[in-house]
Amino acid sequence: MVSEGKKRRMTGDDNMKTFLITGGAGFIGSHFCEFLLDKGNRVICVDNFLTSSPKNIGHLKKNKDFRFIEQDVVKPFDIDEKIDYVLHLACPPSPIDFVKMPIKILEIGSFGTYNVLELAKKKKAVFLLASTSEVYGDPLVHPQPETYWGNVNPVGPRGCYDEAKRFSEALTMAYHRFYRLDTKIVRIFNTYGPRMRLDDGRVVPAFITQALAGKPLTVFGDGSQTRSFCYVTDLVDGIYRLALSKINDPVNIGNPNEMKVIDFAEKIVSITGSRSRITFKPLPVDDPKIRQPDITKARKELGWEPKIGLDEGLGKTIEYFKNNPKK
Ligand code: NAD
Ligand code: UDP
Repeated sequence: MVSEGKKRRMTGDDNMKTFLITGGAGFIGSHFCEFLLDKGNRVICVDNFLTSSPKNIGHLKKNKDFRFIEQDVVKPFDIDEKIDYVLHLACPPSPIDFVKMPIKILEIGSFGTYNVLELAKKKKAVFLLASTSEVYGDPLVHPQPETYWGNVNPVGPRGCYDEAKRFSEALTMAYHRFYRLDTKIVRIFNTYGPRMRLDDGRVVPAFITQALAGKPLTVFGDGSQTRSFCYVTDLVDGIYRLALSKINDPVNIGNPNEMKVIDFAEKIVSITGSRSRITFKPLPVDDPKIRQPDITKARKELGWEPKIGLDEGLGKTIEYFKNNPKK
């Protein structure tokens, strides 16, 4: 089958759009680059590999519509070509990162988002911010609609990330209102899939690597806290629809299939056929007790719905982890 990209090149289609994607070498970013190239767009990937590996985009480098620029978004930068869309994904996402680099995260959410917004303004491009369900903190409303303002502890260990994203959202809306920049905000809920970092401490890579190694699965607290897991290609499709939409308010993208962490651990043990047992560790401070996206808005206004079920998505993810064992 000939991809959209090849078709456009063969027919000299000048309708090709250029997307700049910060954090494009990361887990979500690398899937996004693939998706955009496959749709026949030009992609400029900006990353400094702070939390990712060049391997994630190695297969894209031979594509003539793909350009990589090694750059820390905390430092101002310019691009010598036209850009239609700027997708700002660069940011360390995992609770382990919150401990290792809290100040860097706050710099990325403030100076970084400012620099990327300035670039979008200069290029008259549409700007999309990758925000997070963490802006709802430890939520008191369930499931979480976009209208909920959240319950965030600004001075707790997750505050560096939550407030960096909340500041990024505020800055994005200020550019929209003050400069009339066409901006979008996606609030991403827990997403998983191939190319997650094996050692980033998030629950999906943690449980899969533990199960595959026959080691105990480390459930934090009693495991009664809930999460809802979205497969990465569903997420990318939702964000793409948002980028092309006329919506400027935040939109939740995630899978509403909510489950307890303990049940998730048992599922991983069963699906991997592992003999691992489950061990309990202290619950991290401010770990949200419940989380489930209300996706009414995405359904109605983007016609979006996640398609990949948990078993199918975990199957693909486990396959990836088997083929890319920890060195
Ligand atoms: P990731 O760590 O795989 O990707 C982040 C990418 O940003 C990495 O390639 C990293 O090197 C790059 N980066 C970080 N700081 C940078 C800087 N200063 N300059 C340039 N590049 C930089 O994480 P991910 O899970 O793919 O997350 C992508 C985005 O989605 C993040 O903004 C994250 O906050 C958001 N998000 C992710 C999830 C999830 O479940 N994966 C949930 C909510 C929000
Ligand atoms: N978790 C766990 N064991 C682990 C890693 C995480 O029980 O080894 C729990 C964590 O306490 C949280 C949930 O799994 O309740 C999801 O954690 P993750 O770090 O993936 O993302 P979060 O949603 O907390 O940002």
